[in-house]
Amino acid sequence: MRDGILDDLRDRVAGPVLLPGDAGYEAARTPWNLSVDQRVDAVVEAAHADDVVAAVRFARERGLGVSAQPSGHGAAPLAGGTILLRTGALDEVSFEPGRAAIRVGAGVPWSRVQEVASPHGLTGLLGSAPHTSVVGYTLGGGLSWFSRRWGRASDHVTAFDVVTADGETARVEAESDPELFWALRGGGGDFAIVTAMEFGLQEAGLVHGGQMMWPGAKAAAVLAAFREVTWNAPPELTVWLRLFRPPVPDGEPMVIVDSAFLGAAHEAERLLKPLAAAGAPVLDTRRGRRPADLGDITGDPVDPSPLRARTEMLTDLDDTTLYALAGAARDLPPLVAVQIRHLDGALTASTGAAGPIGDPFLISMMAVPFGPPEPGLARRRALADALSLSGGPKPFTLLAPEEAAAAAFAPRALDRLRAIKHERDPDRVVRSNHPVLG
Ligand SMILES: Cc1cc2nc3c(=O)[nH]c(=O)nc-3n(C[C@H](O)[C@H](O)[C@H](O)COP(=O)(O)OP(=O)(O)OC[C@H]3O[C@@H](n4cnc5c(N)ncnc54)[C@H](O)[C@@H]3O)c2cc1C
Repeated sequence: MRDGILDDLRDRVAGPVLLPGDAGYEAARTPWNLSVDQRVDAVVEAAHADDVVAAVRFARERGLGVSAQPSGHGAAPLAGGTILLRTGALDEVSFEPGRAAIRVGAGVPWSRVQEVASPHGLTGLLGSAPHTSVVGYTLGGGLSWFSRRWGRASDHVTAFDVVTADGETARVEAESDPELFWALRGGGGDFAIVTAMEFGLQEAGLVHGGQMMWPGAKAAAVLAAFREVTWNAPPELTVWLRLFRPPVPDGEPMVIVDSAFLGAAHEAERLLKPLAAAGAPVLDTRRGRRPADLGDITGDPVDPSPLRARTEMLTDLDDTTLYALAGAARDLPPLVAVQIRHLDGALTASTGAAGPIGDPFLISMMAVPFGPPEPGLARRRALADALSLSGGPKPFTLLAPEEAAAAAFAPRALDRLRAIKHERDPDRVVRSNHPVLG
């Protein structure tokens, strides 16, 4: 795609266009998740929404696809004939004090929303990593610290500005285009390129939360106490448990409980009381935090990482599952972390394509592949075999690069998404990381 064609694309867009062989192409095509190798025909770094229109029209005319990617935390191998559209420069943030709503461009990370909203006692429904983009996360539903209280991030979207697969701009709201509005709220990035999004914010003052850490030898006791905490947890309390072993020689296994509570400190203390049975933690970072500081709780990696994670849904934390997890804590490598998230609450009533989550817990098993492509695969499979897995739909945002979109949806929702894709984009110009047509 060099020479004349390249000149054509460069004439049409204001932002940089990079092709294989160009200086800067390798860096531009590399996603945040370094374990995914994206060999794309070109990278377009959109300078503004008109560049998105131009890139989509160009791709359409030449039988190519366009895949938007703000940073690539959710990167998956892209099919040949794809233009990778970087959206980082679409960085508009519009917020009027007094209104619990905000408008963001497609490249804005959660950290910017939180910095704007926090001083007004407001929060967005961000997940554990504030450096992921609001739009990429929300198109996949978005599983937040606060989803037990307020559902998924996608439940609170009021409008999308999009470029359709025909290269036309449109504003998509519940009334203007109910089918596309439904699909964009959790169905992923297969239906249009979003240039900006508007959504409601929630009231949150100080959030009481942090990390409690024990040596891995305490895993059985912490797991049992964690289960007891979840039995009595109100929607305002979110607790996640992590088995962790630093990927360094002689790294000591640890067990960690991360929590966030929308309420008073003494009430958080009472609700987490069962954890006292595991003895005093060796580290306890719990304190009142501004919603802008939530990212400090888990301390997720900010710099690009070669991360491989597989998420499964759990029907229960029964004794067999706890026993298997306690065993995993003793023998984690080549996994670096296993995380259990407590779900339930408002997630059971989530709307849009993301839909409700019926399972009360999920488990994510993470490996860092330095050598062979999947060193954690056998270990993950062995652990998964020992657990009470439901096989139910998983959060779209947590699909592994190799997983199909079908793993994230109930059959009726998947059929509806496929019908919308057939109708709106039969030529598959817009390409998601997990295409609904497989
Ligand atoms: C360390 C870590 C922690 C995480 N924690 C959570 C969590 O707590 N909760 C949770 O739900 N998820 C979580 N995720 C997953 C994350 O939300 C997804 O990877 C999500 O895709 C957002 O990442 P991103 O902004 O880098 O999007 P990218 O990976 O850059 O994009 C993902 C996909 O979104 C679509 N897309 C993005 N922008 C547009 C656009 N403008 N128009 C159309 N389609 C678009 C595309 O299909 C693209 O392939 C985590 C991921 C990591 C690596």
